[in-house]
Order: sequence, then C-alpha cells, then structure tokens
Amino acid sequence: MSSVVVSPARPDNHELLRIGSKRVDTPGRIEVRDPATGTIVGSCANASTTDVVAAVDAAQAAYRTWGRTTASDRAGVLHDIAEAMVADEPQLARLVTAEVGKPLAESSGEVDYAAEFAHWYAEEARRVSGRVTIGGPDEPWRQLVRQPIGVVGAITPWNYPLVLSARKAFAAIAAGCTVVLKPSELAPLSVFRLGMLAQQAGLPDGVLNIVTASPPTIVGDVFSTDPRVRKISFTGSVATGKTLMRAAARTLTRVGLELGGNNAFLVFEDADLDLAVRAAVVAKLRNGGQTCVCANRFLVHESVLTEFADRLAEALGGKVVGSGSDPATEVGPMINQRAVDRIRVAVDQALANGATAVRATNNSLPDGPYYPPTVLLDVDADSTLMTEEIFGPVAPVTGFHDFEQAIDLANDTEYGLAAYVFTASLRTAMRASEELETGIVIVNRAAPSGVEFPQGGVKQSGIGLEGGPEGLADFTTSKFVTLGG
Ligand code: NAD
Repeated sequence: MSSVVVSPARPDNHELLRIGSKRVDTPGRIEVRDPATGTIVGSCANASTTDVVAAVDAAQAAYRTWGRTTASDRAGVLHDIAEAMVADEPQLARLVTAEVGKPLAESSGEVDYAAEFAHWYAEEARRVSGRVTIGGPDEPWRQLVRQPIGVVGAITPWNYPLVLSARKAFAAIAAGCTVVLKPSELAPLSVFRLGMLAQQAGLPDGVLNIVTASPPTIVGDVFSTDPRVRKISFTGSVATGKTLMRAAARTLTRVGLELGGNNAFLVFEDADLDLAVRAAVVAKLRNGGQTCVCANRFLVHESVLTEFADRLAEALGGKVVGSGSDPATEVGPMINQRAVDRIRVAVDQALANGATAVRATNNSLPDGPYYPPTVLLDVDADSTLMTEEIFGPVAPVTGFHDFEQAIDLANDTEYGLAAYVFTASLRTAMRASEELETGIVIVNRAAPSGVEFPQGGVKQSGIGLEGGPEGLADFTTSKFVTLGG
C-alpha cells in the first residue's frame, strides 16, 4: 500500500489529472519523493470520486469513436507513441529513477521495454480476427466476432511504473478500448509524462485518462461499481487483487490480475554453477529485489549447496549499493523505510529460528532506506522469508536431495508466478517445466523477457495474461452471430 503525503505544497514538477481534454488540478496534492534522499521530486493532483467518474465519462465518450477506428489507425498512433517514448528516454528514465530509486541503466531499459509494448501492440491490433463457418441451408453463416471490451479501469504498482502501465494500456488501446489508468501514488510522474507523450503523438483525448488518488480505494470503488467500466486490469499485491476482485463481484465486472510471487530458483546437481550464480545475482537484484519475478527462494541440490551459497554471497557482497542516480550504483534503495523495516523483521525472525548469514556483507550503506544484499542458509520453511514475497535483496538458500523433493518444495506455496531451473539435462528441464505450478518457467536464464509471450501467474499469483497476443485478446469480447437463410 502507498504511504503518501497529501499536502498543499506545489513543487515545480506538478502533474494534473488527465481527464479527456482537461488537465484537472485539485486542492490537495500528493507528494512524490526520491526514495534515496527523501526529497520531493514532484507532486500530482489528488482525485476525488467526482474526478474519477469524470474520467470514466471521458473514456466512455472517447470509446464511441476509438472503438470504431481501423486497426491501421490504431497501429499508426501506437507506433508514434513508441517513437516518442524512445526519443524522450533520458527524461523518462530520470523520472523513473527519481521516483522508484532504481539505477539509471535499469530505468533506461524500462523505457525501451515499455516502448516495445507500444510497437508490439501496434502490430497485434491488425491481427484481431474472428471466424466464419457455413452452417447449412437454414443458417448459411455463423460468425464469431471479436469486439473491444469497452472502458478499462487500469491500476498499476510503483516498481515498474512505465512497463506495467504500457503492457496493459497499449494492449487495451490496440484492441479499441479506452482506459482510465491509475498509477501508484508512489511513482506516478513517469506515467503522467507517458500520457503527455501519447497525446502529443496523436492519441485522441479521452482514450488514455490518468488519475491518482490517496486513498486509492476511491478509484477501486468507482471501477467496481460504475457499469460503464467493463474490465478492471490490476497489477500489484495479492491482497489488493483480492480486495478488487471481491468489489468487482458486485457488478460482475471482469478482472485481470497480475499479482505477486514466491518464486523458486532451482539449482540441480548438474547445473553450470558459474551460469547459475551469475543468473541468481540478476534474478535476485533486479530493481533491488523489488520485482514480481525476482527469485525469492533458492532451492539447491545438497551436493552444491554450500558452494552455491558461498559464491552467491561473494557476488552479492561486492555490489555497490547507493542512489539510483549515481552511475556506480548497482543496487538502489528500497521504495521506503517501511519496506526496509519489513525485510529486517523477516530476516531477524529467520535468524532467531536458526538461519545463518553466509558471510558478512561488504556493502557499505549510505543513509536512507537501504538493505544490504544478504544470503541466508538453513532458513526455516515456515519463516516469512520462505512463505512470503521478500521484495528486497535477501536470498534464503535451502537444500534438496532429489528431483521430487525439489519440485514439492518449489510448489509448496499459494503463489504461482515464476520459477527458475538450472540444469545441464534437457530431461530435467522439461520435467521441471511440466511439473512446476507457475505461469512462467525460466530455464538456464536470469529473467523472462520479450513482449511476444504472455507472463501471467497461476494459483494466487493472478488471473489472465498480459503480453503477447493473449494480452490483447483479454481486452476483447467474443460475440456469436448467426444469420438465417
Ligand atoms: P499494491 O497492491 O499495494 O498497490 C498496487 C496499486 O494498487 C497501486 O496503484 C495502489 O495505489 C493501488 N491500490 C491499492 N489498494 C487499492 C484499492 N483498494 N483500490 C484501488 N487501487 C488500490 O502493490 P505495490 O506495493 O504497489 O506493488 C508491489 C506488488 O505488485 C508486489 O506484490 C509485486 O509482486 C506485484 N507486482 C506484480 C507484477 C506482475 O506482473 N505479476 C508486476 C509488478 C508488481
């Protein structure tokens, strides 16, 4: 949940709500702070229920025309948006680093990846197709027509503000939907800039409306009660996903939920350990460990357990921790002090229950909400570090003795987002990818990637898919049309 301050102060970088053609300010303002320094880097307006309803009005009005544009018109605008984002990369990346804290190189990568979604969905817009069959003399034509779902209420978290907003909003827009997007109050500035770029690139008013609100519940309330909102597309924590799904049940509004994970990183006895350690560093440290697909639990064959833990600790211990705007930084701050405190409590609990830190960390920490990359052995299976998403640079490492135990341990969680497998055996890789209960399996690699494939969770990690053709299909409805003789 956000811990935002609403204040009357108005810093230079103040963003107004984007509602149709209007830019709306409000009496209260939400401050946005650099996690590294705590300084205010901007602010945004704080929407009321009336503002959110006005954004739905604008999206509904724009849908009447946008829903009837040709695929090629939509593709043209989306390609132009992608190009505008790439041209604006230095500014967008600086904003992401300022509000999220991640190293600048990671923020630049995020801008490129977000722009790729615009290009990808521009092309996918042209491939929405139904089917026609011949039904016989009384029913010569039977058709399945795919149509845009309508107005989409989109809600995104702070950790990848651009990518996660782009992945859902561009898919919806490519399908012919219009969107009311609510980015996180912790990191809204880059998303507001994306809205401005999209408008400058030719996206008509009302197709992408952007609101921020503290508390954010007022947005969820409008999305789940206004019958014009046909789908709530949410990325964030399991707890908020459940709240929104319960609320949406009142109107049976569709939900798409991309939620958290408790991702296992499996290292089998035949794995290339150099590769596994290198990948583990990346899989653990992306955005300081604050990524939904970050490795959470390291499950390692007993024969290589100590060596793996030792080498991982050595690699993590050498990482430079600091402000994301310092080019030397490899691991940025946590989003806020509350996040650091939560990690500290979980680590202390594991240590009290018998876990051991593998080696003292060399990382010197600046003042601020930092946590040193840490490797722990012998972590109790019931400890928070093993049962919950850590969302920080802490790596609990546990042993297993055979394939079956490895898979049982990996699947012993209510989450089902991603799993990593390191092995030299194609047979082990294929068996593991079949038996792991996750939406994503990553074999001998550090990260899932690519806009061409969907990345969604199973079990309590989500409902629906984003990315790939499936991500666009989730913003359409199918209509069966039967024509009599
Ligand atoms: P969060 O659930 O606290 O907040 C996410 C968004 O929901 C924010 O915009 C917040 O303001 C809003 N929100 C909270 N309560 C709301 C309500 N009642 N109604 C409407 N909006 C509400 O999550 P977070 O801390 O911002 O993000 C971290 C979580 O997101 C982690 O669990 C992470 O794994 C998950 N995540 C998942 C994916 C994925 O693709 N599966 C990607 C990134 C992050």
